[in-house]
Amino acid sequence: MTDFRAGPLAVDVVLEPHWLPFTANRAFKKAPRLLVAARDMHYTAADGRRILDGTAGMWCVNAGHCREPIVAAIREAAGRLDYAPAFQMSHPAVFDLAAALTALAPRGLDHVFFTNSGSEAVDTALKIALAYWQAQGAPQRTRFVGRQRGYHGVGFGGISVGGIEPNRRAFAGQLLPHVDHLPHTLDPTRNAFARGQPAAGAEAADALEQIVTERGASTIAAVIVEPVAGSTGVLPPPRGYLERLRAICDRHGILLVFDEVITGFGRLGTPFGAQRFGVQPDMITFAKGVTNAAVPMGGVLVRREIHDTIIDAGTGGVEFFHGYTYSGHPLAAAAGLATLALYREEDIFDRAAAIEPYWENALHSLRGTKHVIDVRNIGIVAGVELEPRANKPGARAYDVFLECFARGLLVRQAGETIALSPPLVLERKHIDEIVTTITQSLVTVT
Ligand code: PLP
Repeated sequence: MTDFRAGPLAVDVVLEPHWLPFTANRAFKKAPRLLVAARDMHYTAADGRRILDGTAGMWCVNAGHCREPIVAAIREAAGRLDYAPAFQMSHPAVFDLAAALTALAPRGLDHVFFTNSGSEAVDTALKIALAYWQAQGAPQRTRFVGRQRGYHGVGFGGISVGGIEPNRRAFAGQLLPHVDHLPHTLDPTRNAFARGQPAAGAEAADALEQIVTERGASTIAAVIVEPVAGSTGVLPPPRGYLERLRAICDRHGILLVFDEVITGFGRLGTPFGAQRFGVQPDMITFAKGVTNAAVPMGGVLVRREIHDTIIDAGTGGVEFFHGYTYSGHPLAAAAGLATLALYREEDIFDRAAAIEPYWENALHSLRGTKHVIDVRNIGIVAGVELEPRANKPGARAYDVFLECFARGLLVRQAGETIALSPPLVLERKHIDEIVTTITQSLVTVT
């Protein structure tokens, strides 16, 4: 592997005490990759190199890094109101943010419950579903349906409905009971190198009918899926698939939750994936792009009837026994308001939609490059799947990730896939650089 590092680590840190999440810790600590600054489309690495951000951090910095209006809003909030209790008390900015979010959401999703992460948003949505059915007088509706290869964060609820096997393995004995999984939608035989939504595979949604037949509709609380599965390696939904899922849920009175932690806030050229696909869920979980990742925040957008049913069932005290110390934190609320304003003022969602065809063509030009067996894309997201090395799952994609970083580009490895999701303010020259660097890296890696 080529070592392009300009010099030794320029910052002085003791590496050992920090146990890094979802990281090969031993390998990392032998050759750490530290970022020390960021602006717009670029990071600065500890050795001074500029790194083009091909991943918007982790699918989250949609407006580009360290944007001044967001930085200023956080700074101002931190000096004025550092914290307000979230239970039985509140502060104005979080109401303003709830109003701004519901205005952006598909019609009817007009309440928001705030959390601090996508994982918490997912667990909150599952709990809202259970509380709703209890308040509805259908307490036997306790089953959840997720999907193979789904990623819904790392809470016990999220890994239970999630379908990424390594994320479940060590905890398998204590997952939520009563969860079924739909099949995933990846079908390389019929859909390899599909552009946007693949043509084949809507019938994968029919597996929900089988689950209903087996379990009984009256036992199922909710189905949760990512409109585009992201962390598993970018799987856009087959045409008609989400519509079919919605129809089956409607037929049996089952709630449909879209986990839009990645697909929210312009990633697909629309505020949420629900609008791009024209399919209305009962709840949307979000996080990441809501604050442009500058302060952690997540939440659940909820249909009015679900909210009202739970609130109306209350007997005068607390209606829903759930929440976090930092739900709607003042700094996150300030960052969220500034972020949504920036998205609006700079037409960032429309700009993403406008550059999507160029992005798609550029990424599909990788077809035929060494190791590439599939390219999938939608919105400003793409997955470049590589032929795995024999008996070494993920090793080749990991080496491509390292090689790209050495060449000044940040990509993400998701199994055998190189996942790409740059900030939505990218220009054609950034797309060209991403594709050129990936090509060079693929040619270099064995
Ligand atoms: N749901 C989806 C679809 C995600 O992609 C993620 C994170 O990537 C999560 C949930 C978890 O979010 P967090 O890491 O903020 O807990």
